[in-house]
Amino acid sequence: MNTKVFETPIEYLKGVGLHRAEILKKELQVFNFSDLLNYFPYKYIDRTRFYKIRDIQPDLPYVQVLARLTHKEIIGEKRSSRLVAQAQDDTGLIELVWFQGVKWIEKTLIPGKVYVLFGKPTFFNGKVQMAHPEMELYSTEVQQRKGNLTLQPAYNSTEKLKQFSLDSKGIMKLVAALLEQQLHDIHENLPLYIINQFKLTGRAEAYKNIHFPDNSTKLNEAQYRLKFEELFFLQLKLLKNKLLHTQKFKGNIFDTIGEIFNAFYHHKLPFPLTNAQKRVLKEIRLDTQRGVQMNRLLQGDVGSGKTVVALMSMLIAIDNGFQTCIMAPTEILANQHYQTIKELVGDDFIEVGLLTGSTKQKDRNVLHQKLESGQLKILIGTHALIEDKVQYKNLGFVVIDEQHRFGVEQRAKLWRKNTIPPHILVMTATPIPRTLAMTLYGDLDISVIDELPAGRKPIQTVHYYENQRLAMFGFMKREIAKGRQVYIVYPLIQESEKLDLKNLMDGIEVMAHEFPLPQYRISIVHGKLKAAEKQFEMNRFIKGETQIMVATTVIEVGVNIPNASVMIIENAERFGLSQLHQLRGRVGRGAEQSFCILMSSHKLSHDGKIRLNTMVKTNNGFEIAETDLQLRGPGNIEGTQQSGVLDLKVANLVTDQELLIKVRKCVESIFEKDPQLASPENLILHSSFKTKQDGLTWDKIS
Ligand code: ADP
Ligand code: MG
Repeated sequence: MNTKVFETPIEYLKGVGLHRAEILKKELQVFNFSDLLNYFPYKYIDRTRFYKIRDIQPDLPYVQVLARLTHKEIIGEKRSSRLVAQAQDDTGLIELVWFQGVKWIEKTLIPGKVYVLFGKPTFFNGKVQMAHPEMELYSTEVQQRKGNLTLQPAYNSTEKLKQFSLDSKGIMKLVAALLEQQLHDIHENLPLYIINQFKLTGRAEAYKNIHFPDNSTKLNEAQYRLKFEELFFLQLKLLKNKLLHTQKFKGNIFDTIGEIFNAFYHHKLPFPLTNAQKRVLKEIRLDTQRGVQMNRLLQGDVGSGKTVVALMSMLIAIDNGFQTCIMAPTEILANQHYQTIKELVGDDFIEVGLLTGSTKQKDRNVLHQKLESGQLKILIGTHALIEDKVQYKNLGFVVIDEQHRFGVEQRAKLWRKNTIPPHILVMTATPIPRTLAMTLYGDLDISVIDELPAGRKPIQTVHYYENQRLAMFGFMKREIAKGRQVYIVYPLIQESEKLDLKNLMDGIEVMAHEFPLPQYRISIVHGKLKAAEKQFEMNRFIKGETQIMVATTVIEVGVNIPNASVMIIENAERFGLSQLHQLRGRVGRGAEQSFCILMSSHKLSHDGKIRLNTMVKTNNGFEIAETDLQLRGPGNIEGTQQSGVLDLKVANLVTDQELLIKVRKCVESIFEKDPQLASPENLILHSSFKTKQDGLTWDKIS
């Protein structure tokens, strides 16, 4: 809020007092005027239309009926007495019941008169009933109001609040009092030109109408305005941070493309780059010439070819005299990157080092020395490579694979290794929808590889029910006979680890029976194994000594075994969409056609069905992420959980995507024209910036 008035503690509002204030704070986190003003109705009860009795359906929440009272009667004795009445319109009859205040209400009802009845309809013995309806005599006054009846706000309340008469109605009264008293203190906080450009309702009017809308058009306008404002200030803050970051952190300038890059590009690169890869390389190239530290998130589906883009960016850094490193979340992945990169660059070209937890002390010492002298240009490893002992001569470019496993602290450590921080490229194979990225990573630059290399055969996915298990086994056998390898994955759900393990063991028993030695060998990997045992089992599979790998989800993200071309997911309905997509990404890495079979029971929830259908329908990670967002809401998407950014009050990142994109563009153009927000028309933004306490605490990459 603009004015101090709204910081006034809630107890000072007329009608609140100390007791109610305490309970409002405890139950609703309403501490001051502003909090109450921003405690929005969760729905509105439509009092704008009258229902004919015949048209009332059981699933209607609240209805308003115009009917003539035809009968009233108190039934039963004293405590158990109730008042029953009947009313009619020209289409039918409705029964009205009261269990409380029976005598008093009975006196007020006048048979023969027409009433406006309002309440929640129920059906009993095929008759429409309404318990404790609101009754109002139909008069000329009501008649005049008829064209102008309003939507009535409904507020969430709790049992505790109700004890203090703060049910929905009670809260409504407080809000009404607040608005009456303070409406003129709600000042505009957006520049006039934006209000005009987007045809926004004024701020005070919006607050009035979100609580007490005159009609549904006004309500929509109010919601639009407040959503706009919410998203606007969030983006303003994010983009301002981004701007500050670029002002604060100088970056190394890579102004030459030299011998090393060119040699690789012309003589070693084994395939033409996809357009998406070229585009991203160009983006990185532009970023690293500006003298500002790059902070870039690279999103791309599994197999989209992020590694080679990372490598080529690193070669540019090396051409400009810098050292580079790739940090992977696990040893297996670090090993794999090491192998891939060594293969790509070849032996005689450039030295590549590997540093993980299991690197021997002797080798470690050699690595340390080569890093300090600047001789070693590419180091690949786990977080071992950010230990304090590891000193670089001139670290200029850092690639982080699968960012969500690295803490902020770890990242920060990395770039403190140089006076000018290295450029940072974070790669993730968990695509998140564009609008979500705009908010979650709003202060980062984002590159997307949205295209798979040509000639890739899309993985074929099918959904089988339990009774098709034999067909599934038959399929496995045929693929294994062709020389392929198969993954079978079981879900692991923490709460019932025992049950999961039993599931897995039962599964293995069936497998062992169905796939007997010596033709079939099975690797088993699950969470209860020691690291060395896991590694041993994995290695047998990697070397092709086993044909089947039965595993819980512990199989590593990013593990690359091109000959494994079949992924079978048991109880697939128990996995989330992004997890299913990640698992499926384990196959489809070789030249052969790959397959994914989703096994499920016949009992499928609505969402479960959508998840499995989506998997069968598409291989596109962004499309899948989009569906995931629709199904689960922004707060549950992987990697977003702790982010306060997503606690939006009015706007919704799923349903308001279009608006978000508009707002983002609007804020971008403001900063383009006026980075300091110093022009007179933008001064208003400056001030609301300072007072807006929004408590945003998301992680920045560096
Ligand atoms: P990810 O994005 O999952 O990390 P990788 O970088 O591991 O993908 O690439 C997957 C595979 O595709 C690798 O075997 C890589 O050599 C190959 N690849 C990458 N780019 C291309 C391309 N432009 N054309 C053909 N194959 C490519
Ligand atoms: Mg990869």
